[in-house]
Amino acid sequence: MRILIAEDAIVSRRLLQQCLQQWGYDVVVASNGAEAWQLFSAGDAHFPIVISDWMMPEMDGLDLIRRIRASSGSNYVYTILLTAKSEREDVVAGMEAGADDFLRKPFDREELRVRLRAGERIVQLEQTLAAQNRELRQRVEEVETFAYTASHDLQTPLRTFGSYAQLLLADYGKVLDEEGRELCEEILEDALHMKTLLDSLLEYSRIGREPTPAVEVDVKTVLDWVLHDLRPEIAETGATVQVPEGLPRVVYPEGRLTQIFGNLMSNALKFNEAGKPVVKVCCDEAAQVYRFTVQDNGIGIAPEHADRIFNIFERLHTRDTYPGTGAGLTIVKKIVEFHGGEIGVTSTPGEGSAFWFTVPKAGERPCSD
Ligand code: ADP
Repeated sequence: MRILIAEDAIVSRRLLQQCLQQWGYDVVVASNGAEAWQLFSAGDAHFPIVISDWMMPEMDGLDLIRRIRASSGSNYVYTILLTAKSEREDVVAGMEAGADDFLRKPFDREELRVRLRAGERIVQLEQTLAAQNRELRQRVEEVETFAYTASHDLQTPLRTFGSYAQLLLADYGKVLDEEGRELCEEILEDALHMKTLLDSLLEYSRIGREPTPAVEVDVKTVLDWVLHDLRPEIAETGATVQVPEGLPRVVYPEGRLTQIFGNLMSNALKFNEAGKPVVKVCCDEAAQVYRFTVQDNGIGIAPEHADRIFNIFERLHTRDTYPGTGAGLTIVKKIVEFHGGEIGVTSTPGEGSAFWFTVPKAGERPCSD
């Protein structure tokens, strides 16, 4: 394993180098923080472990560790601060800068050896975790590509089934008996339903695959559009929709935000058994995110189903009771998470549900997909 040493005191530097080389480490030495930073940031070699003195001219150990932390991205670097300081506030300052461990000066060989071993274990665990993450990400991408290709390629044969069933009904409807006609109608109906499912799957796998630019969006305008589109449902159910004043502007792909609110609002109107739906939109502001909630007085969701409903094609009711495909919330969840947010629901069966999601404030995260 390669180790970078930053130490301006020549004797201590030599001793460290000697020990580490004896134990089989590949050692690179720097005589001050600035030189160490140059070696570290040159990018030719990755240093999984850095041992740095605290007090050094030009750039001290804290500054060096801070820079390493800010730049090392997914490659974890285990840092050991070499110091004569041992006061509580020194330990806090060192840890806050990002140091993983301390070694008292003048250092003890045995202590250095065990601390390095602990560091090595953590670096190895981090490397295994990073490799597993890469593999997992690759698998997810493969599955998404499969879903995209399958849902795309199945559209054509499905259209053919539908058209043939339609032709059969139009041209041979008189020849067929009642049962034959019913069967044809069922084929047609199922082909239509399957088309809706494939469209949803295609829509799901498109998120993050086809760029939709993030722009500054007025949430109130988005909600106006959503309510405009839902006018028939609102009129039919006699629902009351409450939207608060002073909604923020966010940086987000406008179509995606419309999809999120559209789905949550339409569910809030749909999953209501008796009485008139009352749907409330709220917005809470936290340090880094806006949290939006769509609350209803509908049928609610039993706690054991609260996670399930975000899985694709999972529904708690038959299509005859409440129409739908069971893909809406999965699509919403993927959009929200792709844009750095979180989504969840709190609900009481028979009383209603509150679906919430967060949107990072502008500058907290790039928001295009
Ligand atoms: P769909 O609306 O097409 O069924 P969704 O993915 O939007 O699909 O929702 C999945 C399931 O979650 C719904 O079938 C329903 O059982 C439940 N659900 C979603 N929203 C609500 C809500 N506001 N109140 C009660 N149940 C809900």
